[in-house]
Amino acid sequence: MKTDRSDILTCLRNSADYVSGQQLCDRLGVSRTAVWKVISQLKEEGYRIESVPSRGYRLVESPAGMYSESEIASRLHTKWAGRRLLFFESTGSTNPDAKRFAEEGAPHGTTVVADRQTAGRGRRGRSWESPAGRSIYFTIVLRPAFAPDKASMVTLVMALSVAEAIHEVTGLETGIKWPNDIVVNGKKVVGILTEMSMTPEMNETQFLVAGVGVNVNQESTADFPEEIRQTATSLKIESGKEFDRAELLARILAGFEADYEIFEKELTLSALKERYEARLIGRNAAVRVLDPAGEYTGISRGITDTGELVVEKETGETVLVYAGEVSVRGLYGYV
Ligand code: ATP
Repeated sequence: MKTDRSDILTCLRNSADYVSGQQLCDRLGVSRTAVWKVISQLKEEGYRIESVPSRGYRLVESPAGMYSESEIASRLHTKWAGRRLLFFESTGSTNPDAKRFAEEGAPHGTTVVADRQTAGRGRRGRSWESPAGRSIYFTIVLRPAFAPDKASMVTLVMALSVAEAIHEVTGLETGIKWPNDIVVNGKKVVGILTEMSMTPEMNETQFLVAGVGVNVNQESTADFPEEIRQTATSLKIESGKEFDRAELLARILAGFEADYEIFEKELTLSALKERYEARLIGRNAAVRVLDPAGEYTGISRGITDTGELVVEKETGETVLVYAGEVSVRGLYGYV
């Protein structure tokens, strides 16, 4: 029933003209009664669907802010990203869910989406504030054929795709704080957490999961907990406009699919580097590298083809900063 629902909604959304009940049955291989049931259900939920005898059905409008499996699925035009979609009203965190599905054999591109997380996670055991009804939380399962040492680049690919999708949908200028935060007007709107599972011999990647949290429709900074009010913001706070999460998510998945395929060809960031660096915050400016082995400052010069941050120390020495244990800051604050 769930898939019938997504399929029927997708068919309606993708046809400019009326679709007859019979066409829906033939295309999807379902009964007339099944089509009728789904259509009435959709109408009850607030979908505006016109039905004209002898012509069929036409989707006029989705209910404002609708965020559900079928709504997202019906907006997807991807080959593999999100083609298998699992949607939860609430979950602990979409990363462990995605890992569990991956262990059970979920295919490349499987995407777990939640409206709310009760234990949203960041890097190094940090938490990600994940209220209901306002944000996007999703994790995509990837089954790469590459070695584990390439995996950290996927975080940068995702950061680029998300930053560009947000810019296209909202018009906001998005910057990337290496390696994995997306920033608007100096404050964080997106966090990304990539995790990997290796084969028991530790020499092959079994799967990767890339999790993304986007603050979309928070009304004001007061909606964030005290500890992050200075550094967190949402797309609505920065633009004054409300955004459709299903549409934005579909755009992010489409962008990521395209960028990941570019990355996969060479297994370096060479073809994406220029776009990434165009959004890199603090390029050619002073940065502070918070390395657990010792903090230092230097000038950020961009990234390498494999995603390390190039930092020129005051001594003239150039260091390559590896993502993982390290955070980077501006000299006087978060960016
Ligand atoms: P940084 O480079 O800023 O040190 P990080 O990349 O290690 O951060 P992440 O794992 O991306 O951090 O995110 C976790 C951190 O982000 C938390 O410690 C908190 O400070 C901040 N944070 C938590 N929830 C949100 C949110 N919804 N919006 C913005 N920032 C958040």
